[in-house]
Amino acid sequence: MNHSIALVVFSGGQDSTTCLFWAKQRFDKVIALSFLYGQKHQKEVELAARIASKAAVEHVVMDVSFISQLGRNSLTDTSMVMDEEKPAKSYPNTFVPGRNLFFLSIAAVYARERGINHLVTGVSQTDFSGYPDCRDAFIKSLNVTLNLAMDEQFVIHTPLMWIDKAETWALADELGVLELVRHDTLTCYNGIPGDGCGHCPACRLRREGLQKYLLSKQEH
Ligand code: ZN
Repeated sequence: MNHSIALVVFSGGQDSTTCLFWAKQRFDKVIALSFLYGQKHQKEVELAARIASKAAVEHVVMDVSFISQLGRNSLTDTSMVMDEEKPAKSYPNTFVPGRNLFFLSIAAVYARERGINHLVTGVSQTDFSGYPDCRDAFIKSLNVTLNLAMDEQFVIHTPLMWIDKAETWALADELGVLELVRHDTLTCYNGIPGDGCGHCPACRLRREGLQKYLLSKQEH
């Protein structure tokens, strides 16, 4: 019997929480890994711990707050006003340069130490901002790089890569955790759990997805 373990990069938001339960369904054991990267809303890590405990998975928190000192962004810099719209020719200032590169690289080293080769991340190419480190090409490239860097056979799983927010809600529902994801997760850029502040880009995207999903569910 092959005892398979997955390490989930886990922020406690809608996407990574859905991925946590997705992984629970597919692997014998799941470990959730959260990062303190200097985010203004460190409460997200407390919420992540609570969700991990409800999911009965081991939760590891790692301090990588140096990331916030490398590049300026409005998720870690309290003096910056968050972009609520995507600027025409660049990324909104909620983009944390290198975040997924660091998170997944650190996750891979952590996983290797424990004989784990499955990594799970909630990135999605359909993400509203089109962050470059959420795209499939980046993940595939990093997967190859990590394998070459450590002479390992990591598999980076991205269950949400090609689905939109409505389909992510559908997946949570399928996994039996729609209510948990709706009420216990923190996606809001203003740090308000559940349905959030309602007006930041993350809340709008999340709410529009939920409305679309609930409507399609009624119609069937
Ligand atoms: Zn919000």
